[in-house]
Amino acid sequence: MKPVTVPFFISHQGCPHTCVFCDQRTISGAAGRLPTANEIVSKISLWSATAGERPLEVAFFGGTFTALSHEIQAGLLEPLQSLLKCGEISAVRLSTRPDYIDDRRVEWLKKLGVTTIELGIQSMDDAVLDASGRGHSAADSDAAIRCIKGHGVAVGTQLMPGLPGDSLFKSLSSLERVSVAGADFIRIYPTVVIQGTELARRFSAGEYYPMGLEQGVNLCKLLLHRAMQSNLPVVRMGLQADDGLNSETVLAGCWHPSFGQIVSSALYGDLIDRYVSDDELVTISCHPTRLSDVIGYKRSNLARMLERRVRAQVVSDNTLKKEEIIIQKGIRSSRYNLMTDLNYSIQEVN
Ligand code: SF4
Repeated sequence: MKPVTVPFFISHQGCPHTCVFCDQRTISGAAGRLPTANEIVSKISLWSATAGERPLEVAFFGGTFTALSHEIQAGLLEPLQSLLKCGEISAVRLSTRPDYIDDRRVEWLKKLGVTTIELGIQSMDDAVLDASGRGHSAADSDAAIRCIKGHGVAVGTQLMPGLPGDSLFKSLSSLERVSVAGADFIRIYPTVVIQGTELARRFSAGEYYPMGLEQGVNLCKLLLHRAMQSNLPVVRMGLQADDGLNSETVLAGCWHPSFGQIVSSALYGDLIDRYVSDDELVTISCHPTRLSDVIGYKRSNLARMLERRVRAQVVSDNTLKKEEIIIQKGIRSSRYNLMTDLNYSIQEVN
C-alpha cells in the first residue's frame, strides 16, 4: 500500500550555498522556519486521522538536512522516535547535498529511523556543477550514493537536465552514473528559470538560454526510457505546480504542471508510431493504468495517429504489463514492449 507522506519543508535551512537555479523561498512557498516538536507531532496526528489503512511516512524536504547543526537535526528527528516505535509512522525520508554525507552521519540517521535519503545531485558532470555554483563534484555524489547504500538506507537522486553547460549526452551520462552507483530511484527536474535567482540574472543578460518545453520533453523521454531500461524507477518528472511556481515566478525554461504525463505519453506515442503505418485501422490494448498515456496528454497520441489517417481504438487489458501494448490489425495482433521495442538514437531527439 502506497504510504501517505507527511511533508515538512525546511527551506534553505542549513544550506550555506546559493546554486544558480535555487530560490528555496519560492520553491517551498515561504522562507523556512523550522517546525517545533509539538508542530511535528500535531501535524502527524492530523494526517494520521485521515490516512485510513495506509502507512504514514515523514519527509523533510528542501534545504540541506545534514548541514543543520547536530542539535537541530536531533530536535527534528526525536519527536518521531516514539511514533516509529509504536508503528504510527513507518518511514522517514530527508533530502540533502552529496557533500554533507559520510559514514558517521548516515549511521546516526539510520539509528534515528531514517529510511531514505534523497540527494540533490543535479548533474554528474563537473563543468556543469561548477557553472551552476553547486560547490561539490560528481565524485562527491558518487561517494555519497555508495555510502548511503552501504548502510542499507535507500537512496534517491535528483537530476536537473538543462543547467548551464549541460547537453543531452551529459544528462544521459549523469543518469547512467547514478544508476551504476546504486540509486534506488530518481526524480528528474528540467531546469526552470525562477525569478530572483542568479539564473534569472543570466537569462535577462542573454548569458543563459534554458530548454523550452518541447526540447525538455524530447530530452526527458530519452532519460525516462534509459531509466526504465536500467530498472531505475523515475518517481517524478518536473517540478510540481504547488511548489510556489506560477506564471509570475517562472521566467523561462521547461515547466508544465503535467510535465510527467506529457513525457510518458510521448514515449507511448513513439512506440505506436513505430509499429502502426499510415491509413491503418487498429485496436491498441494497454494496462488500465496506462490508458491516459496511450491516448496521450489531451489526446495527443490519438491526434498524432489521425494526422496519418490512422483510425484507432484504445482498450484496457489488465493481463498486460505496464510497459506493454498489443496492436491488433484485423486478425493479426502483436505485442510490443516500451523497453525492448523502442530505441532512440541521440541524433533523433537532439
Ligand atoms: S544546495 Fe539546495 S538549498 Fe542550497 S542553494 Fe543549492 S539547491 Fe538551494
